[in-house]
Amino acid sequence: MQTEFHIGIDDTDSRLGGCTTYTAALLFQELVSKRFKPIDFPWLVRLNPNIPWKTRGNGALSLHFTLEEEQIQEVKQIAVAVVERTTDLSQRSTDPAVVFLKGPVTTLLSEFSARALHDILSVREARHIASAVGAETRLLKGSRGLVGALASVGAEFGHDHTFEILAYRTDENRGSVRRVNQDSVRQMDAMYQGSTFNNIDPETGRVLICPHGPDPVLFGIRGEDPASLVNACALVGVEEQVESIMVFKTNQGTDAHLNCRRTIRVLRPYQSTVIAGTISDAPRIIRGGHTIFETSDETGSIDCAAYSTTGTIRETASHLIPGDLVIVSGGIRLRRIGELTLNVEKLEVTGLANAIRWENPLCSDCGARCESMGRGQGFRCRKCNLHFEKASKSPKSEPRGIMRGIYLPPPRAHRHLTKPASRYGFRTPKPSNASSAVIDPTLGSLVSVPVVS
Ligand SMILES: [Zn+2]
Repeated sequence: MQTEFHIGIDDTDSRLGGCTTYTAALLFQELVSKRFKPIDFPWLVRLNPNIPWKTRGNGALSLHFTLEEEQIQEVKQIAVAVVERTTDLSQRSTDPAVVFLKGPVTTLLSEFSARALHDILSVREARHIASAVGAETRLLKGSRGLVGALASVGAEFGHDHTFEILAYRTDENRGSVRRVNQDSVRQMDAMYQGSTFNNIDPETGRVLICPHGPDPVLFGIRGEDPASLVNACALVGVEEQVESIMVFKTNQGTDAHLNCRRTIRVLRPYQSTVIAGTISDAPRIIRGGHTIFETSDETGSIDCAAYSTTGTIRETASHLIPGDLVIVSGGIRLRRIGELTLNVEKLEVTGLANAIRWENPLCSDCGARCESMGRGQGFRCRKCNLHFEKASKSPKSEPRGIMRGIYLPPPRAHRHLTKPASRYGFRTPKPSNASSAVIDPTLGSLVSVPVVS
């Protein structure tokens, strides 16, 4: 009898190298080469980015196959062997976890996964959910990777998803400078503007597809569909050997962590959240050029911090005035005991208050602006030396200089999950598994990248 079989993996990477996507890519390739049948591309699931104890991007991986009952044992053995082979267990911060789930994903698990995008979940809860849904867990060392491994299996891409094609370096090149031709990336970007994103930072011209650490990723291109990514990838000129290439389905670039709206009273440190409120104090600019603005709703107030790296967000925030209506998205930080700050990742201005300036009256004789004689003393015209005892200031609307709308950070300051401006046209939900399953999930391994030596 055939059954769905899901494998979740997390935390095989560390600050010194390794990468959980690489573990998943190797495992996927090994299983496919042994004729096991994938249901979908491997999934790269980014989880709550505002948790401080993540390694780099807080990403977990999962693989999804259709298996005969009697194949399951062999697949489990291969999976554990690949994870062991690609993990440096001597790294203190690496706690790899593998989760196996036979049969379809239940609501209990998909709800757990949804919360892992914006909340802080405990290993204890992960253990409880795993046992409730009948998932088997294998911990190679500590248990920290369990939350991510389990959450990636239950991820849902129904509302939105993207793809990323990753090219991996050979062992001997890892840790050295990546030899990727920058001009070829610019040409690729120009050709695949609508179907890829975040290749280049538009303001600085910086190429964004190459990471900088010791990990095995040579470059990664993000985009809307696997076929475009394969074609785009083939245009990137590299001057070193590519070990392998893999296409992942992912929630990157979808704002998946910013879909939970909360009232200010219930906010807790490290949540990713959305609040809607009113500006309740004039913004202040602090050292480093960051802007702090206080936002209030009917349950309380919180300081929102727009850092100088957020570009137009910081610029817009500095022009807010009390009474403006905003929807603010970002991560919650504990500044001092009992005092929270929302680090802004996205700012939507939904209403602008009237900015009023009080003007002195004009002289009825010459038309010049009068000056005040002091509180309650009326006004006088300097030129004509006339005194207007009964005159008063009148209100004048000032132009605001900002507009209603959504403000985003520049691509160079994006997190993996940040939805880029170029994707705001893609509002229609894509069918989740159906569309991509039509395309062969192994297609990443068919790409050849031109190597210039
Ligand atoms: Zn006058």
